[in-house]
Amino acid sequence: MTPTLTVALLGAGTVGAEVARILREDAEALAERAGARLTLNAVVVRDTAADRGPHIDPALLGTDAATAIAGADLVVELMGPVEPARAAITAALSAGKAVVTGNKALIAAHGAELFALAAKHGAQFSYEAAVAGAIPILRPLAESLSGDTVTRVMGIVNGSTNFILDKMDREGASLEDVMAEASALGYLEADPSADVEGHDAAAKAAILATLAFGTGYTIDQVHTEGITSVTAADVEAARAADQVIKLLAIVERTGDGVLMRVHPTLISRDHPLAAVRGAFNAVFVEAENAGQLMFYGPGAGGAPTASAVVGDLVMAARRQLAGAPEPTRLAASPLPALPVQEAVTRYALALQVQDTPGVLARIARVFADQGVSIEAMRQNIHAGDEGSAELRIITHAGAERALDATVSALTDLDVVDSITSVLRVEGN
Ligand code: NAP
Repeated sequence: MTPTLTVALLGAGTVGAEVARILREDAEALAERAGARLTLNAVVVRDTAADRGPHIDPALLGTDAATAIAGADLVVELMGPVEPARAAITAALSAGKAVVTGNKALIAAHGAELFALAAKHGAQFSYEAAVAGAIPILRPLAESLSGDTVTRVMGIVNGSTNFILDKMDREGASLEDVMAEASALGYLEADPSADVEGHDAAAKAAILATLAFGTGYTIDQVHTEGITSVTAADVEAARAADQVIKLLAIVERTGDGVLMRVHPTLISRDHPLAAVRGAFNAVFVEAENAGQLMFYGPGAGGAPTASAVVGDLVMAARRQLAGAPEPTRLAASPLPALPVQEAVTRYALALQVQDTPGVLARIARVFADQGVSIEAMRQNIHAGDEGSAELRIITHAGAERALDATVSALTDLDVVDSITSVLRVEGN
């Protein structure tokens, strides 16, 4: 006879309700794959009187997470954000119970502490849904690529900002206009700062780095710049150069440690990440032996995210039945997080300069003094720019520290009226 494992569902909102639906609708198939019937025995919410639809038995509803956890074999946390989720997960892991969550904010802030707790109590802790929704990326990094050495991961991991940048690229519209449209379509939260200022992507960058490099990193170690400074002119200049601007989360191993950064980035239209349109997500992985891999799909939404949660639940059930729980493994020798100044990258700068003889030579001298080599320089004189010109400069790869010093020296130069844009460039 097929055994039963009971599941406590903490949170029945956008994702939790879909988890309940899948557990009910696909019960037979899931039992076959998991080796046990996965049966909800408690659903924790704030408002027990609200209508939860046909997939949640009202008799299971309650507000007490501790009681629900105590009575379950497996725990799914989908309440977010940090509290009360942290207390509930701590209680479940301390009792040796397998926990599945999609809570990126919690893991990016307190992951290391929860991984240690899971290891101490031999409990499984899975969070595939925390990065890029339905896209299987955490298990490929942690398991499929465990025979290889991952060197770099670049992800489009925030659908809202990709939607905005893509629309700016397609329509030539301003950031403000596209943000207003994105809000109306429900692609942006009432407070859009977590998305447009890059914090959501930074949380995911910390989680990707944790998985790729086996060390518990936190969001405050990620250098973060959002998309608020990207202008229609930047997008247009990118288009003219056959490039596109994407908000990328980039985590990479260098000789001494790991660099984690989130910023708007120019990439060639030939790069696979350039083809990621609308609100889709993608994660591009570089590994020593596998080479380049890309994972693509919906990065959010109830059903896609629930797909990742239920996948984790099936794996957790299988391991529990086999008596082989597998807590998250971290590297014996942690790789330190390095400051962004250690990054080596190319820059694209736009300057408004005085249109007088000798200006180009003086500007080129500033770059040379900092040891930064210029790859291309183009001068545009726009109608109405009386006595001034726009310069667009692309550099060869250089240390971020040297590029910072170059930007600062350019700001002090009397022939430079303003620096209108500074963007990093990745790929060829
Ligand atoms: P949501 O729609 O706001 O649902 C949250 C659920 O948790 C609700 O059922 C709420 O109860 C319950 N809850 C909140 N605080 C509670 C408390 N103090 N005690 C008891 N229950 C409480 O959230 P969601 O969009 O489903 O997201 C859940 C988690 O998945 C978050 O960590 C989020 O970051 C992550 N995630 C979401 C997505 C997505 O596309 N939505 C994608 C990836 C990851 P009531 O229903 O009574 O209010």
